[in-house]
Amino acid sequence: GLKTPVKSGVTKPDTKHKKKKEKLSALCKTPPSVVKTRSGRGYRRGSFLGEGGFARCFQMKDESGKIFAAKTVAKASIKNEKTKTKLLSEIKIHKSMSHPNIVQFVDCFEDEVNVYILLEICPNQSLMDLLKNRKLLSEPEVRYFMVQIIGAIKYLHRRRVVHRDLKLGNIFFDPEMNLKIGDFGLATIISSPDKKRYTICGTPNYIAPEVLGGKNVGHSFEVDVWAVGIMMHALLFGKPPFQAKDVQVIYERIKKNEYGFPEESTVSEEARDLITDILCTDPAERPTLDEILEHEWFQAGPFPRTITVDSLTKKPRQF
Ligand code: ADP
Repeated sequence: GLKTPVKSGVTKPDTKHKKKKEKLSALCKTPPSVVKTRSGRGYRRGSFLGEGGFARCFQMKDESGKIFAAKTVAKASIKNEKTKTKLLSEIKIHKSMSHPNIVQFVDCFEDEVNVYILLEICPNQSLMDLLKNRKLLSEPEVRYFMVQIIGAIKYLHRRRVVHRDLKLGNIFFDPEMNLKIGDFGLATIISSPDKKRYTICGTPNYIAPEVLGGKNVGHSFEVDVWAVGIMMHALLFGKPPFQAKDVQVIYERIKKNEYGFPEESTVSEEARDLITDILCTDPAERPTLDEILEHEWFQAGPFPRTITVDSLTKKPRQF
């Protein structure tokens, strides 16, 4: 994504991001043109796809010509035990997931320099890129995308996994324009319903108020529901609700629930009503994922049968 996720009390994510990036490029040598796994399979490296907080992504082709995305993490950057544990946790959680709207984990291997996480390729970029190209999406399109995203989150939550970093930049398109949730770097397992998590993490614009509520508040599944509200607002109005230049201002606005809908917008009352329900400060009062799907907005207008790649650059004529 654009902004790097923050973990425990980082106040200047942008500066940190820059530093991290410099470190990353120093550590992460481009993988060799052929990577051999221990079991003898060979993968041929293709073009660079993108980079995030601590990984770089390349296309990789197997011997049969099938293309994957390989998330590569330099071993030099995971010397520290905590970072190693985090990467292993990401792999363990992601590996156990299988759903049509979650980036499929394929394999994991290493060579001298890197750890490789082989994933289903999503060649049509992310929802963030789509929004950048299009500025805003139509309500039918957002309905279509929301159903897929919520379906995937329901699957995660049924398996007691909270993603904790849901944002437009972590939701990718497959070749058929289906959405796929990716990046399990901040995901965690909630061991029992009343067990909360206390690490401050997420990406500034998407952080739920209870995550900012101090050390003793704790958070759980509802942070992913909050992120759904932020994404819906961003897709329909072109920017996330609590947007500001200064991260501290974003946090203050989130805590005070200070946001509005742009005056000039023609987005329906039903959509505004749903966003208002979801962006509820008290996590216990937030709707469940099923309640969101039952909201009248989903019935309040057309629902596209499919979305085509043309939508990446221009508004579909019928919506
Ligand atoms: P990090 O955990 O370091 O943030 P990400 O998982 O966000 O890494 O991946 C970094 C970048 O790599 C993404 O922003 C995207 O451009 C690209 N990428 C990640 N996964 C895929 C994929 N499955 N298919 C295509 N590109 C991908």
